[in-house]
Amino acid sequence: MRAMILEEQGKPLVERSVDTPSPGPREVLVKISACAVCRTDLHVCDGDLENPKLPLIPGHEIVGEVVAVGKEATLEMGARVGVPWLGWTCGECEYCSREEENLCPEARYTGYTRDGGFAEFVVADEGYCFPLAEGMSDVEAAPLLCAGLIGYRSYRKTGKAKKLGLYGFGAAAHILAQVALAEERRIFAFTRPGDESGQEFAGKLGAEWAGGSDESPPEQLDAAIIFAPVGELVPKALESIRPGGVVVCAGIHMSEIPAFPYKILWEERTVCSVANLTRRDGEEFLKLAPTVPVQTEVTTYPLEEANRALQDLKSGRLEGAAVLTCGS
Ligand SMILES: [Zn+2]
Ligand SMILES: [Zn+2]
Repeated sequence: MRAMILEEQGKPLVERSVDTPSPGPREVLVKISACAVCRTDLHVCDGDLENPKLPLIPGHEIVGEVVAVGKEATLEMGARVGVPWLGWTCGECEYCSREEENLCPEARYTGYTRDGGFAEFVVADEGYCFPLAEGMSDVEAAPLLCAGLIGYRSYRKTGKAKKLGLYGFGAAAHILAQVALAEERRIFAFTRPGDESGQEFAGKLGAEWAGGSDESPPEQLDAAIIFAPVGELVPKALESIRPGGVVVCAGIHMSEIPAFPYKILWEERTVCSVANLTRRDGEEFLKLAPTVPVQTEVTTYPLEEANRALQDLKSGRLEGAAVLTCGS
């Protein structure tokens, strides 16, 4: 099969022809039609995240069709599935046994410690695949698998916040904004300073205010979610939320958070992070998305142009999500 492979962190992916993997007893072989590109892929390729499997096929927002099944697998041939970041957990540790499988120390991650979806096929543990409803094309559904899921988990941590700030209006924020608006929240979007097209994009999706991350919102917010990997935004966001409000850091990696005065945290403001996902997040979100209904804005790239997609994501040239089309 064709695959885009990370041989060494900090180097571009290389296109190779490799053996198509075969599924273990509880695994399935998925013929990939689309795989979205996530900021985490950038962190893996650039080396911000340590100790990936090497060589590695990145990619963890996979949509495809089951074309082979292991001896004990129960998924049917031809089933349309999504394969997310969470690839496997132990099921036995203290985290797994209290519904925090997202924190399992033994967990394996698709496109990081297992091979992922920048290829024509992927092997996945069937217990971690999500069946996908009809209605959205494969390309449009792919960004739901991480941008959507992580956005949703972050959103749940903001409780009943009415006025919600979103720092970094990319793939995750553009999906989450639709869910939040459907639940009658008000959206305030923060983009890179001067990114007028990003602000326009946020306005088009229903944000009532959009400005640069160096600006203050017109009203005090109830909560903020930071999708951009920029530590300076943590004190910025704290300054824009009310007493008792929460700032959620949604990324897997962030630059250092600068020191800030205690008074912007005082009055019971909270800063927290979101790590990975649980299968329950996936089930809830994938059930909710069609009722909104969530629509994704995607830019497609052929598989062999994965490096260009990663660069466009890094430079902020994209609106919505980048998706690789993997079908041969
Ligand atoms: Zn991701
Ligand atoms: Zn565990």
